[in-house]
Amino acid sequence: MHRIAFLGPPGAGKGTQAAELAQALRIPHLSTGDLLRGAVGAGSPLGREADGYMRAGKLVPDALVLQILAERLAGADARAGFLLDGYPRNLAQAETLATLTPLDRVLSFEIPTDELVRRLSGRRTCPVCQTAYHLVSKPPKVAGRCDRDGTELIQRPDDRPEAIEVRLRVYAEQTAPLLDHYRRQGLLRAIDATGTPAEVAGRVRRAVESAPP
Ligand code: AMP
Repeated sequence: MHRIAFLGPPGAGKGTQAAELAQALRIPHLSTGDLLRGAVGAGSPLGREADGYMRAGKLVPDALVLQILAERLAGADARAGFLLDGYPRNLAQAETLATLTPLDRVLSFEIPTDELVRRLSGRRTCPVCQTAYHLVSKPPKVAGRCDRDGTELIQRPDDRPEAIEVRLRVYAEQTAPLLDHYRRQGLLRAIDATGTPAEVAGRVRRAVESAPP
């Protein structure tokens, strides 16, 4: 079964790779960032509470994130596997997740920090379908418009320099310790996340197809 989690700093390309892999494996792509942005966009009470944390680049409180994720994880489409993108983000979330489902594999996206800053600051996102572009390395066909639905692209508030710095620090302090946690369980596979999306996709595919831990 493919019960997979992607770990890695913001800007490592998790979202792009997760969308592609989930489609190839026919499993749902469960991105807590996308789910939270959806709630913010819809103006739900949960979204209104999460908004300030997200803009600042901080983690949204565990209980709120769990509320939005548990529902999706319990859905019929997740029974045959799922791809978690952006969850867990700290040890408490990893422990909660373990009470809900086992994981078969955790992929860690590895990339130097200066490359992350370059990717995040040039990123532009479709607010409707969440497809990510890059001003230089992955520009849309029509400048400023989403290839899929023509929506005007935006810069995510948390892709501004002040928030990028906070997100990288939060990753180092709270999320990076999970690497050891999953390494000890024998679930971790490291992926070199530098290079083109196609190159990274090849490495992701090989890591998923390699013998189970
Ligand atoms: P992402 O799209 O994964 O970069 O997430 C964007 C933002 O959503 C993060 O900076 C957090 O504010 C929030 N977020 C996403 N996933 C989580 C999570 N598992 N725990 C707490 N906050 C999260």
